[in-house]
Amino acid sequence: MARGRRSQSIGVDDLVSHLRDLASNLWWSWNEEGWSVFQTLDPNEWRATNHSPLWTLERTSRARLETLACDPLFVKRVYDGLAARSAYLGERAWFQRGTAARRDDFRVAYFCSEFGLHESIQQYAGGLGILAGDHLKSASDLGIPLVGVGLAYRHGYYIQQLSRDGSTQVLYPEYDFHRWGLEDTRETIACPIGSRRVTARIWRMWVGRVPLYLLDSDLKANAPEDRRLTEGLYKGEPLLRLRQQILLGIGGMLALTALGERVSVLHLNEGHAAFAALQRAIDIHSHGRPIQESFDAVRRATVFTTHTPVPAGHDRYAPELVVSELGSTVDRLGLTPMQVANLGRVEAGDAKETFCMTVLALRLAERVNGVSKLHAEVSRSMWKDFYGVPAAKVPIGSITNGVHVKTWIDPDAERFWKEQVGLRLTKQAPTATGWAHAEEVLPARFWAMRSRLRHRLVHFVRDRLALQRKRRGEGQGAVAATYALLSEDVLTIGFARRFATYKRAPLVFHDPDRLARILTSVDRPVQIIFAGKAHPRDDQGQEFVQKIFELTRDARFGGRVALIEEYDMHVGRMLVSGCDVWLNTPIRPYEASGTSGMKPPLHGGLNLSILDGWWPEATDGINGWSIGCHESLEDPKLRDTADAESLYQLLEQSVVPQFYERDEAGIPQGWVARSLHSAATIPPIFNSHRMVAEYTRKAYVPAHQIRGG
Ligand SMILES: *Cc1c(COP(=O)(O)O)cnc(C)c1O
Repeated sequence: MARGRRSQSIGVDDLVSHLRDLASNLWWSWNEEGWSVFQTLDPNEWRATNHSPLWTLERTSRARLETLACDPLFVKRVYDGLAARSAYLGERAWFQRGTAARRDDFRVAYFCSEFGLHESIQQYAGGLGILAGDHLKSASDLGIPLVGVGLAYRHGYYIQQLSRDGSTQVLYPEYDFHRWGLEDTRETIACPIGSRRVTARIWRMWVGRVPLYLLDSDLKANAPEDRRLTEGLYKGEPLLRLRQQILLGIGGMLALTALGERVSVLHLNEGHAAFAALQRAIDIHSHGRPIQESFDAVRRATVFTTHTPVPAGHDRYAPELVVSELGSTVDRLGLTPMQVANLGRVEAGDAKETFCMTVLALRLAERVNGVSKLHAEVSRSMWKDFYGVPAAKVPIGSITNGVHVKTWIDPDAERFWKEQVGLRLTKQAPTATGWAHAEEVLPARFWAMRSRLRHRLVHFVRDRLALQRKRRGEGQGAVAATYALLSEDVLTIGFARRFATYKRAPLVFHDPDRLARILTSVDRPVQIIFAGKAHPRDDQGQEFVQKIFELTRDARFGGRVALIEEYDMHVGRMLVSGCDVWLNTPIRPYEASGTSGMKPPLHGGLNLSILDGWWPEATDGINGWSIGCHESLEDPKLRDTADAESLYQLLEQSVVPQFYERDEAGIPQGWVARSLHSAATIPPIFNSHRMVAEYTRKAYVPAHQIRGG
């Protein structure tokens, strides 16, 4: 790529082919030298396509491309982007610099049912996928030899539109995988499901140095019901789910074999992929090892991350169904149906016990972890019967989640920290330098940056609301009125996440009149912005969305509550950068980790959270607020009342007064001190480089080393 680095003009076809090249690796998505090139092509199309490089390119006019091809500065940016990417791909990173680099055959396969890599690639439902996407990016940055394995969903999750009564309309667009830069590997696999062999195509998506393989069963060769296996995420029907999980696990391992990808360590990110370990055992068994020994070998080399602190959240199936759907896999294992059923049971032979994917994963993985310290503790107690030891002795450790900083930090904020504290994120090491000095930043400078981000968010939300009202056919008056909603200088609280009921989106409305007094105070007003999708089959979650939709129109709140549709990674990025406070109100201990709260501190935002998931290990009482936790209250009504009371007290007595307590220059010194403390203490730990380095040291490398033994 060095060949064309001089500033020059080139032919349009060459320009297009370089742009396609730049779009062919998701490196563009977390590096400004990458994505900004496509934004420049046509800023309107860039926005209209939700930041899709190839789609923007398709929609950019020939005349515009001709102009750009003659613009030496633009051409130089394209070459510079390609050169920066080659330098990145060739660089010796953290892993290559360590002694571990000598282990040539070290390679991890990371299995997950969803990957949230970019807003234009709708292959995620929520936190699990976002975490998996961030994991791949950090593995790439740190140079960990890792491959991702998942499914390619034709409809993604779903697109959320709200009707005029606030009810959810579920849209299933058909995605064109080529438009996402996926490469057809031209390899296919035949995955046994029931008595059939389901053919799946293997797509490859490059995430920096990491290949992500995605299986797609939507092929003419398959029966219609099998084509549906990769139609969408979490469709709800148990049989479809089970078959999807067979395709992910068994099919995923077959795909690695078909591609010649030899992996030494298997990482099951959540129980959905646990069948992968069965296929691995079959591979070993087929070389003549007895099946028990094969299971032992798989166990030593398998890492399992559990994400579910709620017993009902673990996938369970009727054992007969599992046996029949596994089809020839059962024979190849050489096990009886009863033995296979027992792999997913805590008590072997207990006919009443269903087949649990988590139990299968626990059985076939030696290294098991939860995603925060608290979650690991809950998991130890949940699985003590499985291990047959007291909770304190259960071998489930914790590796707390983190976020990929380059993906989540706003470019303006990144520049700010670079200038102010010398933040360096490109350095390919688990620890970024700079954050520790955040508290030395001049308050006025920081406040100017925060105010810019808040202003931008308010305009973004107004624009979105106007578009959404227009689409719903609301009158011109209602559309125009959105521009009077929200204020740029008002304390802004954000709440955005999946609307799973345990997350209690409506909690802040527990006492609507009290909230109204807080929001509409004349001298110290507050505004709240909501976003989030509920699962299409989660009626209560949908009701929560509708309730909040109605409350946004409740005159008592004076237009200070907003709800925007279609929460995705872009909406998320806007909210976590622009909000002053990030609200999190789950029922403890149901939030295994939560990661959205790790994103505002990158911009000096503050958490206001129940002491659940990652927050107990992050907060020191200054870098945010903890909402009193009343998990000991069994009665959900009493618990909600107590948690809401604590939330209101914090808002009334601490959060709001501190935001509005200004010095002569208009700077809230106390608030700024807290915010800078948040930036100094949270990002250095709760980032995915630290997380992936921890997986590597604590789990991947040890699993690799003992695997042969
Ligand atoms: C960060 C993020 C999540 C995860 O948020 P939680 O706090 O774990 O619920 C989900 N969706 C999007 C779009 C995100 O950006």
